[in-house]
Amino acid sequence: MIFLNTKEKDLKYIMHTYGRYDVALKSGKGATAFDENGKKYIDVSSGIGVNSLGYCDDGWVNAVSKQAGTIQHMSNYFYSEQASNLAEKLCCLTGLAKVCFGNSGAEANECAIKIARKYSFDKYGADRSEIITLKNSFHGRTVTTLSATGQDNFHNYFFPFTPGFVYAEANNMDSLKKAVTDKTCAVMFELIQGEGGVNILDKDYVQSLVKFCNDNDILVIIDEVQTGVGRTGKLFAHQNYDIVPDLMTVAKGIGGGLPMGICMCSDKLKDVMTPSTHGTTFGANPVVCAGANYVLDKIANDEFLNEVNKKGEYLEEKLLKLEEIKGVRRMGLMVGIELKNGNAHDIAVKCVENGLLIITAKDLLRMLPPLVITYEEIDEAVQLLEKTLKESI
Ligand SMILES: *Cc1c(COP(=O)(O)O)cnc(C)c1O
Repeated sequence: MIFLNTKEKDLKYIMHTYGRYDVALKSGKGATAFDENGKKYIDVSSGIGVNSLGYCDDGWVNAVSKQAGTIQHMSNYFYSEQASNLAEKLCCLTGLAKVCFGNSGAEANECAIKIARKYSFDKYGADRSEIITLKNSFHGRTVTTLSATGQDNFHNYFFPFTPGFVYAEANNMDSLKKAVTDKTCAVMFELIQGEGGVNILDKDYVQSLVKFCNDNDILVIIDEVQTGVGRTGKLFAHQNYDIVPDLMTVAKGIGGGLPMGICMCSDKLKDVMTPSTHGTTFGANPVVCAGANYVLDKIANDEFLNEVNKKGEYLEEKLLKLEEIKGVRRMGLMVGIELKNGNAHDIAVKCVENGLLIITAKDLLRMLPPLVITYEEIDEAVQLLEKTLKESI
């Protein structure tokens, strides 16, 4: 066996589907991470919004470890205390009626798409199955969720894509109404387009859209995979818009670092899915559910969520003082940074070299810090960003 280091092994044996930063992370605590050489980083990406409580929160580690030592998996043919507790919590906190557990955002969206189509099939017959999504959206990497993603560059190579998706302009009711036909069964969208550039949808638009859909029995599917679980300063972003979805998908931050995707539905849809219409082996895994129960217990209260908003405001204020920054798009701790000059990706690479783990969204820098980031860590992050911007622009 030839000795290879982490990067060499990765390049040799893992398919090259990611452009990685030149760092191998080894450990972390809160919003601070360390690489294999012991170098320290401030992390304002939290593994793309996944480590909602930061790295290795003591209570979360304890909940997960304890569950791993009690029962680590059972099939979905058995009842699970952890899963039913989590489902009850989610429904009580949102007013939605039922959940379906899976393992990722894309899967949660697939589930929502299946429920929307089956609702329509049961009520109207086979020909009402089209789903409108928005341009610049991102809904996942499976063949169907790529179809749902309203960006042409995702519609390559893997033909044929799942039919039945049409795209409308965001923040434009005329465009939406033009896309509606007697085949339309649902509209699916993110309230803040994360991958698409931290585009925050207008409240007026969202409320008119929901009213229009409700009036026409067109289902409203909200993809809260990135915006959910406290990220925007409410437990779910739709609570900032004073609307109620028919279907909502949740992933990324809910597991606190373990894989979980959840599709939730309103009362009207609670009996659409019946035995053997959907399922997944790992869905509702008790270790993941134990972690998610802990995450929700910690996040779902006004005190914690107010602090998310305060930290977001503090961060924005500091960012706007940097002369290289043109503007900030933000809700809670979901932050897009518009630059006056320079390429966002190149700057992100230099930030990482300088000890700041940051990501991009189109031509913006993007921050999705762990919700527990401290004010000191925010100060350090902004200093590192300022230093990098001064060096590179
Ligand atoms: C990340 C993301 C997804 C896909 O989630 P995976 O867990 O990667 O499948 C879907 N929708 C949105 C809005 C996302 O940000």
